[in-house]
Amino acid sequence: MSLIRAADQGLTGCHCCGLLARCTGGECRCPRCGSPLHLRLPNSLARTWACLLTAVILYVPANTLPVMITHYLGKDLSATILSGVVLFIEHGDWPLALIIFVASVLVPLFKMLSLGYLLVSVHRHSTIHLRERTVLYRATELIGRWSMVDVFVVAVLAALVQMGNLASIFPGAGATAFAGVVVLTMSAAQTFDPRLIWDAQAQLGVGTVDDDD
Ligand SMILES: [Zn+2]
Repeated sequence: MSLIRAADQGLTGCHCCGLLARCTGGECRCPRCGSPLHLRLPNSLARTWACLLTAVILYVPANTLPVMITHYLGKDLSATILSGVVLFIEHGDWPLALIIFVASVLVPLFKMLSLGYLLVSVHRHSTIHLRERTVLYRATELIGRWSMVDVFVVAVLAALVQMGNLASIFPGAGATAFAGVVVLTMSAAQTFDPRLIWDAQAQLGVGTVDDDD
């Protein structure tokens, strides 16, 4: 069975309203809502690389700088993500420690690794594991927002606990870096065009998905 892409027929879905519209070159606009049409997201790989590499750089201060500074009875106590996890374990709060570790350490790491893998595989015009890579992309896009849990916790605590020298909580520089990692990995997932995964197969003229291994 031969594989026919909509792009080969000059057809594409509108990013905004979803209408299937014809675009055969040049600047096209959706006949229904007027949004610009693209057969593939413009500069998808370059934009995704830019977001991903910046996220990787910010991941270092996000984990080494304090995310939360607690001012308690005249003393300053700063905590990084990992020291917070250790603190919760020491207090026996295993479920909370696990949630923070998964949402703040593992999820961003998984997202960056999977986006890197997707980018490299598209650059290499790889035709293996096409369906699995699409599932990986969807999982990466879906879990993105859950990493914001940590940032919300710090934001809420900083807003609620403001009692001067008695007890006050302030967000640290690590929280800003961490929020940057989350936003940038979410942007990277948005700018990546998953149709590029399947283009390698069409370029080779390979048939169905079952042929690819
Ligand atoms: Zn439209």
